[in-house]
Amino acid sequence: MLAAKLWLFDIDGTLVDTGGAGMRALQAAAEERFGGSGPELDLAGSTDLGVLAGILSHFDRTHGPEEERAFFACYLRHLENNLARGGYPGRVLPGAVELLESLSRLPGVTVGLLTGNMAGGAAAKMRHFGLDAHFGFGAYGCDHADRNLLGPVALRRAAVHAGREFTADETLVIGDTPKDVACAKAMGARCLAVATGHFTADQLRACGADRVVERLDDPVVLATFA
Ligand SMILES: [Mg+2]
Repeated sequence: MLAAKLWLFDIDGTLVDTGGAGMRALQAAAEERFGGSGPELDLAGSTDLGVLAGILSHFDRTHGPEEERAFFACYLRHLENNLARGGYPGRVLPGAVELLESLSRLPGVTVGLLTGNMAGGAAAKMRHFGLDAHFGFGAYGCDHADRNLLGPVALRRAAVHAGREFTADETLVIGDTPKDVACAKAMGARCLAVATGHFTADQLRACGADRVVERLDDPVVLATFA
């Protein structure tokens, strides 16, 4: 099997758990912009643009670049405030730091983000949890509402970042939801699923992940993909 040269990480449920700080920031932004906390949000594997579309439809508002900018600015302010103020039981998920450190020592390996978070939200979370040094580029939930369209964006940015092209064969998507598995398949990459989010290993296996682990520092990860 071809070694994975490009490792693309999801954030929530895979690298970190914000302990509700992210969810609460989205609801607070909806309250501030539209006067109510909005619909019940299913954030697992969703993109922030997709979440915003659901909120706008709930409030019968039309989606435009102006609203997008205003909503995300408001969300980001609440998110940064929630993370800084504390009160949410956030944490880096088990095994994430160990895997990222192992990858940083492997020659020829490039690491990036492939996440439903909008770029500013991704950066705020990575900074808060001390993981930002590992990530120089990403594809984000403000690039497309459809997560399955983020793979090609990630490949383009990885090429600029690393100064070389990556094929889908050389690419591994790491995530915690069936939507991450679908996103990997949509771009022709392999998928490592990790059961540190809201889905069990059996559920992730059933949707066709190439490997499923309970935590990211399981030795099978590097044995399979490095
Ligand atoms: Mg996730």
